[in-house]
Amino acid sequence: MRIATEFEGARAQVAGIERGRATVTVPSDQGAPRFRQHFAFDVLGTPGDEVTIEIANAGECTWADAFGGPYRVFVSEGARWGRAASALAAGRLTIKHRLGGPRARFAYYPPFATSRITRLKKIAAASGAQVVELCATPGKRAIERFIFGESPTPKRHVWVIAQQHPGEAMAGWLVEGLVLSLARGTGIARELLQRAVVSIVPRMNPDGVAAGNHRTTPAGVDLNRAWNDDAAPIEVRAVREAMISSGADLLLDVHGDERLPWVFSQSSDHAGRSARIARQERRFERAMLATTHDYQTKHKYPQSPTSTPNLSFASSWAQHRFGCLGMILEMPFSDHLGRPDPRGFFPDRARALGRALVAGLLATVED
Ligand SMILES: [Zn+2]
Repeated sequence: MRIATEFEGARAQVAGIERGRATVTVPSDQGAPRFRQHFAFDVLGTPGDEVTIEIANAGECTWADAFGGPYRVFVSEGARWGRAASALAAGRLTIKHRLGGPRARFAYYPPFATSRITRLKKIAAASGAQVVELCATPGKRAIERFIFGESPTPKRHVWVIAQQHPGEAMAGWLVEGLVLSLARGTGIARELLQRAVVSIVPRMNPDGVAAGNHRTTPAGVDLNRAWNDDAAPIEVRAVREAMISSGADLLLDVHGDERLPWVFSQSSDHAGRSARIARQERRFERAMLATTHDYQTKHKYPQSPTSTPNLSFASSWAQHRFGCLGMILEMPFSDHLGRPDPRGFFPDRARALGRALVAGLLATVED
């Protein structure tokens, strides 16, 4: 048995291997020792063999308890992702799996490969969408904006951004579903694009993804804590400037939550916002509830109705800058308990949620 980590987004350090049993550790984020969570690695061995992998420092990860409860480690031996038997005990996460082939990939959440974004870019462009490069990152990777529905007539501006936090790969899978729906441009996608220009930034933190980080850029910056900072990293500044230049009637910032086993959206500043923004949020929620069982409105982060918004969050910044609805959309690493599934909240569900999102976005521009 051998452990391999030579693919994009791989993260694990081998501490020892002996006869069907490997011990690995999860390194902390490059540039940010306070974050340690995402892992992905391949196990090579003899088909039919039962392998045991122990993640020895699971208990030292930032959200260590997220490896317990309904969570199970993802495994793939082909195109599909399922769940392996895994259990958290005494700070160690133990995975047991019988190899179906010579190679199995294990991950905290299935990585969303850059090659998939390249493919989406071609599909989007072929459908008539514009793909523009907003800036190059310090790692010389492009921050791209897909623009659907552009026309000379004035329209609403809907913005969707994803993967500020590089380890939250479900955001990439969701964007894939959304982009494919908009590129097809049929049904309500067509209706949405008649009313709004939809701008999508599929990957806000490509350098973090390339580094295999969970939370930050390789310089250790949490992008979703930098939106109110004049000296924010270029990734944030470029998108902020593009939003200011086009305007925004909605910002949806797509994330994954380590702990909460629910899909939910959440806006900020319930005390200071206008009745119009509150109505916009209710319309979004109603449309999502009517479209998919992979969404609910009861379980969210605790929020005090009087709390001051933190403008370093993209959603709060946008709500204040544009007087429009700014929301996060959170998906689970484990499962959405509104519709439990043995495979948990697997990538195809995130992609289906991206398709369902078209109805939610349309509802926000309907008045
Ligand atoms: Zn996040």
